[in-house]
Amino acid sequence: MKEFETVIGLEVHVELKTRSKIFCSCPTTFGAPPNAHICEVCAGLPGALPRLNRKVLDYAVMTSLALNCEVTRKSRFDRKNYFYPDLPKGYQISQLYAPIGRNGYLLIEKPEKKRIRIHELHMEDDAGKLIHNDLDNSTSVDLSRCGVPLLEIVTEPDFRTSEEVTGFLEALRTMLKALGVSDCKMQEGSLRADVNLSVRPVGEEKLGIRTEMKNLSSFRAVSKAIGYEAQRQWEIVRGGGSIERETRRWDEEKEQSLPMRKKEDAAEYKYFPEPDIPVIRISDKKIDEIRSILPELPDQKFRRYIEEMGLPEYDAGILSANKETAVLFEKTAEICGDPKEASNWIMVDLMKLLNDTGTLPEDMKIREASLGEIIVMVKEGKISRASGKELLKAAFTEDAVPKEYADSHDLWLVSDPEVLKVAVEKVISANEKAVGEYLSGKTKNFRFLLGQTMRETRGKADPALLTGILQKKLSEL
Ligand code: ADP
Ligand code: MG
Ligand code: ZN
Repeated sequence: MKEFETVIGLEVHVELKTRSKIFCSCPTTFGAPPNAHICEVCAGLPGALPRLNRKVLDYAVMTSLALNCEVTRKSRFDRKNYFYPDLPKGYQISQLYAPIGRNGYLLIEKPEKKRIRIHELHMEDDAGKLIHNDLDNSTSVDLSRCGVPLLEIVTEPDFRTSEEVTGFLEALRTMLKALGVSDCKMQEGSLRADVNLSVRPVGEEKLGIRTEMKNLSSFRAVSKAIGYEAQRQWEIVRGGGSIERETRRWDEEKEQSLPMRKKEDAAEYKYFPEPDIPVIRISDKKIDEIRSILPELPDQKFRRYIEEMGLPEYDAGILSANKETAVLFEKTAEICGDPKEASNWIMVDLMKLLNDTGTLPEDMKIREASLGEIIVMVKEGKISRASGKELLKAAFTEDAVPKEYADSHDLWLVSDPEVLKVAVEKVISANEKAVGEYLSGKTKNFRFLLGQTMRETRGKADPALLTGILQKKLSEL
């Protein structure tokens, strides 16, 4: 039995996929040369005035609605003052008092169903990047990322395990991608999580003192960091010590969390309302408009796959979890008219191909219609199931067109009854003994004769049709 419970709350930063920055018209391109995309606004020159990018507000409202938040009708930006070399303005433009979204939730399915409450969602600008050079022990600054729009999503302390945290991050990523507001590429830093964590003895109601680990940028790092930090804190608490309220850094190589700084309070940032940006008023009409263009969200898809398409929960969970498999599944089901069959092919055969080749669903090349066409060809007995699998592999790896590939690789089954009759007659006359035994009751000889006719057609006969013809011919003897 575990003696302690881990309590976790997340602050997730998401880079928005807008073309220009949040308060100026510089492009947001990732991986541009250092300082290629800066202007007086994002480089923080005195007197430069920020202007809010409308798209950022739209995306923030979309995301608030998708996260079941109340949208703040009179929202505002606030200045968060602090000094750091990657922040040339000397302050971040964020939202403290009137964030755009509040009191929402996201339902997660993994590791089990749970409602994770969203405390708030707010808009802010990203800072630049410091680049340390160990060779000459120098540090350079790249301001191109200054002013890239961020959403910060803050959860309530509702998580108890690292599996719940990664389940949430996956669900959130899927949802944000479905909304089209972010790429959520953790490796490029467009989705990063701060993990707030405390421990308490099992049965205790009061929350423990928490630490915050900043900028974890992979699911692996998140899991490892949670495991390490929970153990570290519990050892201190169990030994009668107390936890420092501090910000810690996760060292991915050492696999340890290390102290970074004492936790600062909001007061230390000397927040005040941002005077350069007007208050944002959002009308009911605007909210309705945005609500009406929201795409179907992954959890809605999940339920539709179960309720309307008759899939088991397990299949529905996997197929709805990302856009690419969802699109492929729906197209395939439409073409072959059989959702369960479409799901089987994707869950078994396609997933195996993805696995074996180490391909992510978003990098799949297969055309949407191919799998549906293949399934129809198998169902109609035009090709064998084994050929269907071969075809899927060709469609997956080299974008082969199913019909052309079947032609060029001679995959079509022989389903011309006249051709099959000839083969059956040939086999019957060449196997008098086996036929005679069959007629006098040795029924298992049927399989042998069927095998012989299959060979006669070089394995290309439609098996159901062939069986019928052989049965009929034998019964006429
Ligand atoms: P701050 O802005 O100072 O970081 P917040 O009150 O906004 O503080 O909380 C930040 C995050 O910490 C939230 O995700 C919240 O759920 C989480 N949190 C708050 N208290 C605890 C606690 N005792 N243990 C774990 N997480 C906590
Ligand atoms: Mg915080
Ligand atoms: Zn700029």
